[in-house]
Amino acid sequence: MPIIDVRNFRKEYGPTVAAADVTFSVERGEIFGILGPNGAGKSTTVEAIAGLRRADSGSIEVLGRDPADPELRRLVGVQLQESALPDRMTVREALELFSAFYPDPVDWPELVRELGLGDKLKTRYAKLSGGQKQRLSIALALIGRPEVAILDELTTGLDPQSRRDTWDLIAGIRDRGVTVLLVTHFMEEAERLCDRIAVIDHGAVIALDTPAGLVERVAVEQRIRFRPSAPLDEKLLTALPEVREVRRHGPAVEVVGTGALLQAVTSVLASHQIVAAGLRLEQATLDDAFVQLTGRPARTED
Ligand code: ADP
Repeated sequence: MPIIDVRNFRKEYGPTVAAADVTFSVERGEIFGILGPNGAGKSTTVEAIAGLRRADSGSIEVLGRDPADPELRRLVGVQLQESALPDRMTVREALELFSAFYPDPVDWPELVRELGLGDKLKTRYAKLSGGQKQRLSIALALIGRPEVAILDELTTGLDPQSRRDTWDLIAGIRDRGVTVLLVTHFMEEAERLCDRIAVIDHGAVIALDTPAGLVERVAVEQRIRFRPSAPLDEKLLTALPEVREVRRHGPAVEVVGTGALLQAVTSVLASHQIVAAGLRLEQATLDDAFVQLTGRPARTED
């Protein structure tokens, strides 16, 4: 049974179709990413999964239940965008308040130590840095021992170091056995953290795969450069289906192509006892895949 099962989810706000037709499912123990440009329908979809919005049509099940099932409040931890707490509330007060919502909350002093907030218990929310607020919101999402954590744009607005620290935390959440649904528009974040990614654009899933699979699927060009150790007949390379073009730059050879280009080229060279000195491969990234899939450049920083 999938942990989250979204089928043909549709949601309109007046004339705006926020989600046209979204279908995907998340398996136990995954970090599943939802990636897409602004306004693509990501938040609408996760808010429906979190039981905060009703679908106009289609179906959503979380742990086999309707997202509105009150039983899920205990099983699903939600950290949504801009889930700000009252400015004057201290970290301790927030943790105690949220603990009281759950029948079997975690030992929060240990959780906040792990999250590096152990010395901030008396600090008021307004006085926390962006990174500390994010870490507190993760703590609050995990306090009820959820089976599923929903994290929306968790690292937006963080500096690069805090962002990397947060990635370690998310990997740690998964290692505790929690299934993670992560909304992001950061390519690097999706590439590093996610087991699988659904790319959403214009309210629909336009691709669903592992990060490597997404990159491969768009078959963006790759380039290999090397210096052959012996004279090389270019026809050996141009005969390969993966190769589109071979160029010479003095003693160096540049091969442009797609798919398993590196394996194809290196095995032809090996079979002719040619060594490729100074071999370099320029590969497509998830950024390239995103641009090709959505027709829009990916934002790398806010
Ligand atoms: P994303 O999270 O991918 O940026 P959203 O799900 O927030 O996208 O928004 C999808 C579309 O729905 C956008 O055009 C947005 O302006 C619109 N939208 C989102 N929430 C509302 C709302 N409460 N009322 C009206 N329009 C909304």
